[in-house]
Amino acid sequence: MPYSPLTPDILAQLVRIAGPKNVLTDPERMEPYSHDEVTDPAYHHLPEAVVFVETADQAAAVIGLANEYHFPVVPRGAGTGLACGAVPIYGGVVLSLEKMNRILEINEAALYAVVEPGVRTADLQKEVEAKGLFYAGDPCSGDSCFIGGNIATNAGGNRAVKYGTTRNQVYAVEVVNPTGKIVRLGARLQKQSTGYCLDQLIIGSEGTLGIITQATLKLLPKPQHKLDLLAIFPSTEQAIGVVTQIIKAGITPTCVEFMDNITIKSVEKYLHETLQDSDSGNYLIVEVEGTSEDDMDDKAVLLDEICTANGASSVLVADSARIWQARKAFAEAVRAESLIVCKEDVVVPVDQEPQLIDAILALAKKYNLITRIASHAGDGNIHLNILKNPDLTYEAWQEHVDANQQELYTLIYKLGGRLSGEHGIGSKRKVLMEEFTNPDELEMMRAVKKALDPNNILNPGKIFDVE
Ligand SMILES: Cc1cc2nc3c(=O)[nH]c(=O)nc-3n(C[C@H](O)[C@H](O)[C@H](O)COP(=O)(O)OP(=O)(O)OC[C@H]3O[C@@H](n4cnc5c(N)ncnc54)[C@H](O)[C@@H]3O)c2cc1C
Repeated sequence: MPYSPLTPDILAQLVRIAGPKNVLTDPERMEPYSHDEVTDPAYHHLPEAVVFVETADQAAAVIGLANEYHFPVVPRGAGTGLACGAVPIYGGVVLSLEKMNRILEINEAALYAVVEPGVRTADLQKEVEAKGLFYAGDPCSGDSCFIGGNIATNAGGNRAVKYGTTRNQVYAVEVVNPTGKIVRLGARLQKQSTGYCLDQLIIGSEGTLGIITQATLKLLPKPQHKLDLLAIFPSTEQAIGVVTQIIKAGITPTCVEFMDNITIKSVEKYLHETLQDSDSGNYLIVEVEGTSEDDMDDKAVLLDEICTANGASSVLVADSARIWQARKAFAEAVRAESLIVCKEDVVVPVDQEPQLIDAILALAKKYNLITRIASHAGDGNIHLNILKNPDLTYEAWQEHVDANQQELYTLIYKLGGRLSGEHGIGSKRKVLMEEFTNPDELEMMRAVKKALDPNNILNPGKIFDVE
């Protein structure tokens, strides 16, 4: 990819834009910016400089320079991504938004918040909850990831069954576009039919179409009552199969999360604790919200009946703090077992999920894969982690992974699914994206990228290549 290296003159101009304390070039200090949460060093790449911006004007000035001298700019939030989206695969500048971390407004009367992109998701949740309000976005990485990163990846997470993904929480964004203009897209409206929906185009574009420098987010009143039930199923298929029954019964759960037994054991080992009824099978965690204690009781009874009829060996009121700690520790528990992991983030229509889980298990047997599985079962989104088999060389293990992917993705697309439910494509899944996406759809995506970023300077080499 023909990009210009960052010359001493360009570096001096970057220092003039952001200030000396906000430009790093020392390889040791830049190392954390050479990767996201993908721990396999094969996917790491050092930038030539890291620039911390404190204002949208500074971000715009960096983009102006990048267009003038033709170097790539990679926006970065907290670096918790799992697709290498924030990795500077062609060098250039990593543009960090971590210093733009202010909550600018929480409007209690009109139920919205205005935030900078570097606000930690959990910090926003806590701030609004202290005012009796609620921000519905809730990725499992919420203690670390940023709102800007959530918007750029259209993060999903636990509450998407009821509240949708991050794109459903956003009224408007301010972005620095790839030619360096600061534009506001979207509006604080319940509806509009006023041209293309460019705010929604930015959401989920993984930093390839704009740098998000501010967001106006939707807030809700904090739910007054909630309950977590833990249903234990001896069979994986029965656990996943009950999801459509729950939805058909008219219950709108906030979360429906699945963990298979080997994953429960892995998390227990990582947390050094014994989880509820962990020897009996696979977990389905169902969270429901309600208007009163009676409403909660009615929902609990109905859920118990549905899960038991579908083969659950027990249905318990969960210890909420512990069960969510366990669910959220999934990624760390896997990391403690192996740094070399293939993390699949596949998604199918919810009614096709039992078929997918069957196929995943059959293929794991066929290709001798060591798997850990958790899923946002209520969304049809399965996280299949394939750990490196210690008996195989890296290359041999990768061959098994590749063969598995070919069969798995062929099935997923037949079932009407897609290759990423929430983590995005980044550079890690780019080849598969190009292989499995309808060519006409891919061509439309490329046309958008070329039109908005004619010099291909904003996060190039992500999602797909632009020839
Ligand atoms: C333990 C763990 C649990 C996770 N759980 C979930 C989960 O439940 N649901 C889920 O969806 N994801 C999950 N993730 C993945 C990840 O946390 C999310 O994708 C998150 O939204 C990334 O935010 P970030 O701030 O870390 O972004 P980064 O990793 O820094 O960047 C991700 C992408 O967004 C772009 N980007 C970041 N900030 C901006 C910006 N301001 N403007 C433009 N582009 C930008 C980057 O270029 C990159 O392409 C998990 C990850 C881990 C490690």
